[in-house]
Amino acid sequence: MDCLFCKIAAGEIPAAIVKKNDSYTAFNDITPQAPTHVLIIPNQHFSNMAEVAKADRELAGEIFKAAGEIASEIGLDSYRMNVNTGAGAGQSVFHAHLHLLGGRTFAWPPG
Ligand code: 5GP
Ligand code: ZN
Repeated sequence: MDCLFCKIAAGEIPAAIVKKNDSYTAFNDITPQAPTHVLIIPNQHFSNMAEVAKADRELAGEIFKAAGEIASEIGLDSYRMNVNTGAGAGQSVFHAHLHLLGGRTFAWPPG
C-alpha cells in the first residue's frame, strides 16, 4: 500500500521522531499549527482512529496515553488532542493519527 504514514512508521520516509515503540510512532507535523504539533500514529495501518478503536481498543488507548505523556514531558498544562475523521472534517492523510497541539491558546468552537 502506498501510504505516507506507513512509510514514516517504517522509517522509509524521514520525520522528526518524538517518541516511538512497537505500537506507535510520534513525530512533528511538517506544517505545525501551534508551537507543539505532534502526530501520534499506530505503526499498523488503519484508515482512521475510529477503526483503530474498533479493531484494537488497547492500541487506541495507547495512542491517547502517548499524547498525554508527550504533553507532560514537554511541560504543557493545556493542550488539544484532535482527531479529524473523514475529508469533510479535514482529514487529509488516511492513516489513523491523533494531533497533539499546544503552546498557544485555542478558540472554541473550532473552525
Ligand atoms: P489530517 O489533515 O489528515 O488530520 O492531518 C494530516 C497531517 O499530516 C497534517 O497536519 C499535515 O501537515 C501532516 N503531514 C502531511 N504530510 C506530512 C509529512 O510528509 N510529514 C509530516 N511530518 N507531516 C505530514
Ligand atoms: Zn498507512
